[in-house]
Amino acid sequence: MTTQATGPVDPAELDAALAEAHIPSLMMALVHLTGSTDHLTPARTPTYIPLGDEQGEIPEAERAAVRALARQAILDHANNGKPLPPQPDQATVRKMMDVIVGGEIPQRYATFLMQELGLEGVDADRPQWTESEKQAAADMHVVIIGAGMSGLLTAIRLQQAGVAFTILEKNPDVGGTWFDNSYPGCRVDTPNHLYSFSFEPNHDWPQRYSTQDVLLAYFRRVADKYDLKKHIRFDTSVEEAIWDEASATWTVRTVRADGAHGEVKGTAVVSAVGQLNQPRFPDIPGRDLFEGPSFHSARWRSDVALEGKRVAVIGTGASAFQFVPEIAPKAAKVTVFQRSAPWLAPTENYHEAVGEGKKWLLEHVPFYDKWYRFYLFWTMTDGVYDAVKADPAWNAPDATVSEMNQMLREMLVAAISAQTEGDEILRQAVVPNYPFGGKRALRDNGVWIAALRRDNVELVTKAVKAVTAKGVVTEDGTEHPCDVLIYGTGFQASRFLTPMRIVGKDGVELHEKWNGDARAYLGMTTPGFPNFFMIYGPNTNIVVNGSIIFFSEASVRYIVSCLELLARDNARTIEVKPDVHDAFNAKVDAANALMAWGVEGVSSWYKNDKGRVSQNWPFPLVDYWDATRAPNPKDFVIG
Ligand code: NAP
Repeated sequence: MTTQATGPVDPAELDAALAEAHIPSLMMALVHLTGSTDHLTPARTPTYIPLGDEQGEIPEAERAAVRALARQAILDHANNGKPLPPQPDQATVRKMMDVIVGGEIPQRYATFLMQELGLEGVDADRPQWTESEKQAAADMHVVIIGAGMSGLLTAIRLQQAGVAFTILEKNPDVGGTWFDNSYPGCRVDTPNHLYSFSFEPNHDWPQRYSTQDVLLAYFRRVADKYDLKKHIRFDTSVEEAIWDEASATWTVRTVRADGAHGEVKGTAVVSAVGQLNQPRFPDIPGRDLFEGPSFHSARWRSDVALEGKRVAVIGTGASAFQFVPEIAPKAAKVTVFQRSAPWLAPTENYHEAVGEGKKWLLEHVPFYDKWYRFYLFWTMTDGVYDAVKADPAWNAPDATVSEMNQMLREMLVAAISAQTEGDEILRQAVVPNYPFGGKRALRDNGVWIAALRRDNVELVTKAVKAVTAKGVVTEDGTEHPCDVLIYGTGFQASRFLTPMRIVGKDGVELHEKWNGDARAYLGMTTPGFPNFFMIYGPNTNIVVNGSIIFFSEASVRYIVSCLELLARDNARTIEVKPDVHDAFNAKVDAANALMAWGVEGVSSWYKNDKGRVSQNWPFPLVDYWDATRAPNPKDFVIG
């Protein structure tokens, strides 16, 4: 963590780096370097406007002045040995927060953001169990299901707490979704400097939104650094987990890739399988009849060459949106079947490399990295949240849910229309007919519509009726012949934890209890299933605000604290109370009904078969952070 200069710097290198600086972050670093806030003038206060630049429209002359001040201060400190002044007090940091975000951060965010900013350079979520808690936890053994981002995180925190664990992973490697999804063009859509563990920053991301191989390498590196692989049973899928009340243990039954069955016992189970790991194939007649290769985007067949082939793609969600532009130049023809158009969020730098200067600043300028992450965090956090909240009094037609939502719609439709100039049919096809926020908006730098406009790409908006031996048939009876059929049709997201069977108290199976409508308290615990926790469980997905890593960090902190409660009380079981669980879900449902994704008429994977939003967190991020600071013992039966 960069809180001190890392040694003498080359002035030429410094100048080149400063040319790439995020000026608002540099201004904050300057406070740490000089102890003065005099340079934080109104003319240098950023104003972030939708679709504006990340410098917050600060005039060029002011940017140059900040660069010059920073240059001097960095050289003074790094090359001339000037020590850092006493660091700003809390009140000053609080003011700096307002300046960097170009507005007034509500007071209720202050504690949360202070920790997120992490100026002390300590990992605030690192468990600090007492010796007696550690001793009491000597017999604890936690079974973690999944070695993706959340499973690795759980393992790290348990290791730090001194609790034994075993990870069961269906794949031969770590990485979860970043292992499963290897389709061409797969990349993250949250800026990487934010989409990384808070305690494992990486100043070296090659791209602002890096590709799948880079993300996978990051998680492999983290697993190695914490020496986690020795705790992981790879190629091992969980079939069922069964609770035994008498011994207060879970028996987790597994099957290996080679067919061998096994079992592991645990005093607690943490499911870290995520929401998006079981491919969903649409219920279209004839799927088995197709004679050529067909596969799901999350099970990409790299052995199937697409060069010169006629490829059909069903779906236009986040995955297809990324791979269609990649495969279009190779294939003879690509036919894209769209049921609903995705919202496109203009992101010019989506595929851009991170300049060497930017990396240099993150690595060398004290506190710059922290403020840059903070800036990303805030602008990604609750910035767009209000625009996806439905105003109950709003009754304008035209697929909007509030005045702000309509304004955003108009802005985004204009950006889409600019790309379809001269092709009104295409324009009509790619402008979504549901409110912004109804589904996850996709980061757009123009390659999607450019791909759709290629001579060898056809966008079909008629509903898919059937698959035949030779292709795809639409509702108008047209057969669209193809050699390869790719399903970009998403995941069985609302069927949480399938295909595992989870049998809790009194032999009750979790899915039977849920009956197609998964619910949990804070996404993590559910009555009747003691010592069983979920990460990225029901109602913890986010649509417009934040990074899912933030949610996982909050959840894991909470889960590990639940285990600490057990150790502290020398207890064996912890189980959420039904009334606490039910009251929480009632609140979630009421709030989701007032979000763009919850309103009637909007359909997506966020809603389950019963029409309830079982995926999304409908509140600001700060509310999840607050709710997961520490478990309230009163919410649980601890025995
Ligand atoms: P998805 O967003 O659920 O998209 C599935 C697509 O298939 C939709 O366009 C859907 O249409 C279409 N579809 C489903 N059944 C169909 C049918 N019978 N006929 C025609 N079309 C059909 O799935 P995904 O693209 O795999 O993405 C899932 C989630 O994964 C994303 O929302 C995101 O959270 C995550 N993801 C993230 C990234 C990233 O960060 N870069 C990349 C990929 C995925 P409708 O919209 O009409 O239902």
